[in-house]
Amino acid sequence: MTTLQQVWLSWKDPLTSDMQTLALGLPIAIGRDANSMPTAIANGQPVAKLTLNSSQVSRYHALISLQADQLWIGDQNSSNGVFVNGQRQTQRSLKSGDVVRIGPYEISITTTAPNQPATQRRSSDSFIQVPDQQLPDPPSSSSPLEAFPPAEFQAQYVSPQQLYATGLPVEEIDYVAIGAGLGSYIWVDFLRVYGVQAQQVRALGLEGKPYGRYQRLCLNSQIPAHERLRSNSDSCPDNLWGWPSYALREAYGDFLRGHFQAALRHLWQVFTEPILTETYTPRSGNVFKSIDREAARIGWHHMYRFGRVRAIRKTDDGRYAIAYSAGRGRHAFVIGRYVHLCTGYPVIQFLPDLQDYREKTGDFKTVVNAYEEHDHVYSTLERQGGTVLIRGRGIVASRVIQRIYEARRRNPNISILHLMRSPKPVGNKFGLAQRPVSNHFELQPFNWPKACWGGTLREQLENAAPRERTNLLADWGGTTTADRHDWRDIIQTGLDKGWYRIVFGDVVAVEPDAQGRPVTRIREKGITGELTLTANYIIDATGLDGKVKSTPLLNDLVTHYQLTLNALGRFQVNNDFEMPEMRNRSGRMYAAGAITFGGPHAAVDSFLGLQYCALKSVEALAQENASQVRPLHPLASLSQWFKWINNQAP
Ligand SMILES: Cc1cc2nc3c(=O)[nH]c(=O)nc-3n(C[C@H](O)[C@H](O)[C@H](O)COP(=O)(O)OP(=O)(O)OC[C@H]3O[C@@H](n4cnc5c(N)ncnc54)[C@H](O)[C@@H]3O)c2cc1C
Repeated sequence: MTTLQQVWLSWKDPLTSDMQTLALGLPIAIGRDANSMPTAIANGQPVAKLTLNSSQVSRYHALISLQADQLWIGDQNSSNGVFVNGQRQTQRSLKSGDVVRIGPYEISITTTAPNQPATQRRSSDSFIQVPDQQLPDPPSSSSPLEAFPPAEFQAQYVSPQQLYATGLPVEEIDYVAIGAGLGSYIWVDFLRVYGVQAQQVRALGLEGKPYGRYQRLCLNSQIPAHERLRSNSDSCPDNLWGWPSYALREAYGDFLRGHFQAALRHLWQVFTEPILTETYTPRSGNVFKSIDREAARIGWHHMYRFGRVRAIRKTDDGRYAIAYSAGRGRHAFVIGRYVHLCTGYPVIQFLPDLQDYREKTGDFKTVVNAYEEHDHVYSTLERQGGTVLIRGRGIVASRVIQRIYEARRRNPNISILHLMRSPKPVGNKFGLAQRPVSNHFELQPFNWPKACWGGTLREQLENAAPRERTNLLADWGGTTTADRHDWRDIIQTGLDKGWYRIVFGDVVAVEPDAQGRPVTRIREKGITGELTLTANYIIDATGLDGKVKSTPLLNDLVTHYQLTLNALGRFQVNNDFEMPEMRNRSGRMYAAGAITFGGPHAAVDSFLGLQYCALKSVEALAQENASQVRPLHPLASLSQWFKWINNQAP
């Protein structure tokens, strides 16, 4: 018998959702602080160290070692304990396939190299571009005459004269919002309320409606207009005061239609949530309508221009030149002094084994991502019945299960296999707070604890040093779903009736069977050998990826100006969301949304988070006396609010 020399530890990063796999020699010390872990154990054997970022992880938390040819894990007097397959342990033997939970990390232990495609490739290798409505010309032009952006863009600074000399259209304007999605719209809304004229703002993007891409992602992930979102009543992208809130507006609408009971229910809900009632959330259709109204009020359609932004450069006169394409051969430049970059999620992330399956089989119909268009799955299930295997246990998985539940009303011959890596007996803990868990789903009204938006946690993160921020985000983050009674009921009914089954295991491979169905081979927890799960469809509900290097525009910016990225691979920003390395004399460049995750604000990818980013950057512009931006003192704010109420231009 050969003595075990090393083990493989695999886990999903609680912050980025990246799969990490490390092969480490034994013994292995695990903790938060490498300096607090021993360099050798009693017999002088050197120790490999695994550092995990979270304040739930003690400085020296656990030791994995070999004793008489048996693998053991020992708790090193940690504050929050070591859990093996869900049970708290002080000292326990380990076998291949066990899952060790330390703080928010769930680490699978294997004694043989895990299957290559499934676990050793990083998930960032596996993505597809978030689909856009219209796609002007491909990234590189076919003809050298058409080379765009031009050679001048290879320099650190370009001069406006050089751009005019290209003969292409050049526009000079004060404010440029890149992306023209929800985050850009919110920034522009703030600028307008703070006094900037619509003629001084340009928004460049690919969707006429600021919520175009967001709406598509909602529809793909099964949130139609009548379904409710996951934000609270006063997170109103159309109204920076947050009042009247969505609950009040919905109650008013119901009242006018004579639906008195429904009106009272919404009001009762916002007064008593989340103790006596579930948290109120607005219908997506109502949010879109409200954005349309505000877009018309601030003159969005005069400010918006269609175009894919290809590159951003500093100019030699303290501004920024933005090169964009509005179709094949239709290129242009905008020069602006204040630029806001908010391009949302660059890519849809695929689990590596599912991406492998799609690449090998060319089958994009049976293995799908919940964020891509996949309505054919539900319509075929309604006609023919079948089994769906779901991966991921966040809010999108809940939506997909709800949609399949609805399909079952038309055809009860539909079943769900829900594959999870490990059980979730207890929820994440921070201080005295602990999230509830129901049937291995961790529950929380919003994607972050509420105090991350306006409370103490927001301040704590802003004041924290970069390394501490990563720890805090790992503590507060993690995959959760909304605590909705209908979703809990659906899961419980499915479990009771047997059409919904949860399976725990690590994927070894996904392969087609003779009938072309995807078969998932897994190593089930606590069982030696493999189990096969045959399904008609696999839905990957694990998420979107916000790493800036996945997109040509942002990658070009990072490499051209050698920008420092934060620990999570996103742009480093100051507390007012300025990109410090892009400062250009009086020129300022700000970033917002998913591309700034890991910085001063946790909930950057949310309505209220985007409003907070906009508030901080526009307040900073007001302090800099930026063109037309006036401080919004209380009386000015009140007057602007009356204009909002009366639907008058700011
Ligand atoms: C399904 C789903 C549901 C959500 N629900 C909620 C919720 O209920 N509550 C909440 O608060 N938050 C929610 N969010 C989070 C957040 O509010 C949205 O992700 C929001 O759309 C983020 O806005 P954004 O401007 O960063 O990105 P987007 O709205 O996606 O806008 C980015 C825009 O940039 C454009 N773009 C990208 N690259 C370029 C380029 N090179 N040139 C030109 N344009 C470019 C894209 O086409 C896109 O239109 C949800 C997110 C998703 C995906």
